[in-house]
Amino acid sequence: MNIVLLGAPGAGKGTQAQKLVDEFGYAHISTGDLLRAAVKAGTPLGVEAKGYMDAGALVPDELVIGLVKERLAADDAKQGFILDGFPRNLDQARALDAALPELGVAIDAALLVEVEPEVIIERLSNRRVCRTCGYTGTSADAVCPKDGGEMYQRDDDKPETIKHRLDVYAAETEPLLGYYAERDLLITVDGDRDVDEVYAEVKERLGL
Ligand code: AMP
Repeated sequence: MNIVLLGAPGAGKGTQAQKLVDEFGYAHISTGDLLRAAVKAGTPLGVEAKGYMDAGALVPDELVIGLVKERLAADDAKQGFILDGFPRNLDQARALDAALPELGVAIDAALLVEVEPEVIIERLSNRRVCRTCGYTGTSADAVCPKDGGEMYQRDDDKPETIKHRLDVYAAETEPLLGYYAERDLLITVDGDRDVDEVYAEVKERLGL
């Protein structure tokens, strides 16, 4: 199954994606993770993307679309994939739709994890990520519960950037809900619940 995950930053997309990956072996294609890895490695793409990311702005479409196309062509994506954080605007959605036939695949569902903005702001302010394994936890985790690594706060999870990212989401990404609804692909789940409750509904709604 090929899934597009939609939802504001902090809605829990990454957490739900990870659970689907663990249970069903889909490839997890997170453009945020791919871009952070490029920044860390200091590649030309990473150097170009960093300024946009630190400001909470979207990285230019041509950079991100290239990254996703390359990733979708990799072998593990043939087992099914979850796109997390992509597409982020209508041009990216159209570019994705144009690229998929060449790969002989289609999107089966666009899954929206819906959470109120107030909850999002609180979640993002408290979010901490493991520097070694990327595990996402909260400020209550002194060290990573998975591997004991150092937990840090992403630069773009600082209060001044959170507001901007939510504005970008409303302006650029929310129009995608109509795009996928028109194509009868949109499934909405309430993300403001316990992680496992959300996951149970995700599976049920996807028919998994
Ligand atoms: P995320 O981890 O999905 O919250 O993404 C972190 C940052 O990476 C975003 O605020 C953007 O700067 C950049 N980014 C991630 N995915 C995309 C995308 N599809 N298009 C443009 N920029 C992106």
